[in-house]
Amino acid sequence: MYLWEKQMKEELRHIEDKKQKRHLYSIDFLKNSYVLKDGRRLLNFSSNNYLGLAGDDRLIQASVRAAQQYGAGSTASRLMVGNYSLYEKVESELAKWKGTKAALIFNSGYTANVGIISALVGRHDIVFSDKWNHASIIDGTILSRAEMKRYQHQDLDHLESLLKKAPVHKKKLIVTDSVFSMDGDIAPLKGLVELKEKYGAILMVDEAHSSGIYGERGEGLLHLLGIEQQVDVQMGTFSKALGSFGAYATGKQWIIDYFINKVRSFIFTTALPPAALGSILAAISIVQQETIRRKKLQENSYYFRKKLYEIGFDIGTSETQIVPIMIGSNELTVLFSKKLEEKGIAAVAIRPPTVPEGTARIRFSLMSTFAKEELDWTLEQVAAVGKELGVIS
Ligand SMILES: *Cc1c(COP(=O)(O)O)cnc(C)c1O
Repeated sequence: MYLWEKQMKEELRHIEDKKQKRHLYSIDFLKNSYVLKDGRRLLNFSSNNYLGLAGDDRLIQASVRAAQQYGAGSTASRLMVGNYSLYEKVESELAKWKGTKAALIFNSGYTANVGIISALVGRHDIVFSDKWNHASIIDGTILSRAEMKRYQHQDLDHLESLLKKAPVHKKKLIVTDSVFSMDGDIAPLKGLVELKEKYGAILMVDEAHSSGIYGERGEGLLHLLGIEQQVDVQMGTFSKALGSFGAYATGKQWIIDYFINKVRSFIFTTALPPAALGSILAAISIVQQETIRRKKLQENSYYFRKKLYEIGFDIGTSETQIVPIMIGSNELTVLFSKKLEEKGIAAVAIRPPTVPEGTARIRFSLMSTFAKEELDWTLEQVAAVGKELGVIS
C-alpha cells in the first residue's frame, strides 16, 4: 500500500470514529411533500423546496419547451456562443423583480460565491465574514487570498471592533447569509448596512434561503427591509424556493459588468442548459404572483416552531422555515434521525464540521405544501422520539 493510500484511509476511519461519516443514499422524488426511500414514502423535511415549486408542472413544461427549442446543452461559455436570448430574458426579469439595475446568472450558488468573492477582493484586502456563513463564502474567501476576519455570529459590535482595527486604505468586504442555513436565524442586515457605510466597505448578502420567501412578491429580505439599493451585491439561488437550479447576483450595472469581466467561475464554465433557464423563467413569474405559497410557508413555519418549543425542544434561535432541534451528541442525533425515518419522516442529522462541535442537531425545513394534519402528525412522532431518547422529559 502506498503511504498516501494509508493516510487517506486513516482519515476516513477517523471521520467514522467521530460518527461523522457521510453516506449517499438514493431516493425517488414524489411530487410536493414526499420522497421515496427504499420504497418507503417519507414526509420530506430535508429539502430546500420551500414553496413546492420543484414538482410544479408549469416549471417542468417550461424546461421541456426550452430544451426542445434550444437543445440539451448550452455548448459553451456565455462569452463564447452560450449566450442564448433566454439568458437575457431571465436577467431582465430578475432585475425588475429585485428592483436593481442589472443581474447576472451563475451556474450555482456555490460557484457564484466562490467566483464573486475572489473577484471582489485580492491578497491585499480583508473579508469580514459571519462565523456561520455558508461554506461557499468561506471557500471564495480562501481562493481570493484576502485576509479573513470572522466575526462572532450576528455580532455587530465584534464586527465593528474588527473594522476599526483594519487599515483605512485596505479594501474591505463584509459578507453574510441573510438567513443562516443550519439555524434558521436572520442576519442584522440594517446594522450591517450602517457599518458598511461608516467604514466604506463593500456589502454582499447571500439570500439563498430568503429569496422567494420574504417580501410582497418574494423579492427577499433586503427588499422587505427597503435596503436593497444600499447592498452592493445581492446574491441568491434558483435552487431552493424557486425549485430549479442555478444562481444570480444583482446590483448596479457597472458591478455586473465587472463580474462579466472578472468572475472566473462565470467566464470559464459552460452556461447553464436551456432546460434550467426555462424553469427559472417560469419560477420567477410564478413566485411573484402566488403569494399564497409564501403565506402558507410562514404559517407552517410559525406553527411548527411554536409547537416544538411548547413540547420542550430547544430550537435555538430559529425564526424562519429552517427549524433545528438542538441535540449535541453526534451519535444521538443520527439515532434521532433514523427513528424519525422509521416513522415516515425525512429530517437530516446535521453534524460537525457543518455545525460547530457539540451542536449536532436535526434540521427540519418546512414546505408550503404541508397540510396542518401532516404537521400535527409529525409533531407527535417527533415528541415520541424525543421522549424515547431522553432529549425531552
Ligand atoms: C445552498 C446555499 C448556497 C449554494 O447554492 P447552490 O445553488 O446549491 O450551489 C450558497 N449559499 C447559501 C447560504 C446556501 O444555503
